[in-house]
Amino acid sequence: MNLILFGAQGSGKGTQSQLLQERLRLKPCASGDLLREAISKGTPLGQAAKPYYDRGDLVPDELVIGMILEQMRELGDRNGVILDGFPRTIAQARQLDASLARQGQRIDAAVYLEVPREVLLDRLAHRYICRAAGHVWNTKTHPPRVEGVCDFDGSELYQRSDDTAEKIAHRLDIFFSETIRLTDFYAAQGKLAHIDGTSEPETVYAHILASLGQLGVLEGTSYPRQQASGQ
Ligand code: AMP
Repeated sequence: MNLILFGAQGSGKGTQSQLLQERLRLKPCASGDLLREAISKGTPLGQAAKPYYDRGDLVPDELVIGMILEQMRELGDRNGVILDGFPRTIAQARQLDASLARQGQRIDAAVYLEVPREVLLDRLAHRYICRAAGHVWNTKTHPPRVEGVCDFDGSELYQRSDDTAEKIAHRLDIFFSETIRLTDFYAAQGKLAHIDGTSEPETVYAHILASLGQLGVLEGTSYPRQQASGQ
């Protein structure tokens, strides 16, 4: 199964991606993480992407699409992948469909986590991420036991360089003017799971599984179906 998880920055994609990866045995493929790695290693791709990343702009399609397709090929996982942060534009979505079709594959479902802008702004201002594994903490609503340290792996927590008030506002503008159009794109394909992302993570997760069950994409996975309707 190939899943797309999309939503504005701070909508909880990272948290839900981790839960879904474990449950559905999907490999993660997060464009933002790949770009951060390329930038920190100073690869040619990283150098080309850095100015866009630093401004909070979208990195041009020609850089991002090749990077994601290569990563999906490398993962080469039969069970499927969970795409987080890609696609972000209709052009990216079309190219993804076309190249998957050439390999006899497809996107099975696109999960949209909807969260209002005011809630996102508040979440992002308090968001801290662990260096070792990207676990997400919120100093207001979901703080770690020890300040600045990840409960899971003891690594240091940091705020992302693009999580400043100005850049957050800019990235949200791009999401709500551009990426939001993916809802119509995947709804037209009958693949959209539109989820309220404002609840507790466990509730959001249950709604995602229920919605995937309704879309009929959970057959053949380890997910027990009765839980999808048992809310
Ligand atoms: P994220 O970690 O998903 O919030 O992404 C961080 C930054 O990486 C974004 O603000 C963009 O500059 C860049 N980026 C990530 N994914 C994409 C994409 N699919 N298309 C263009 N730029 C992207």
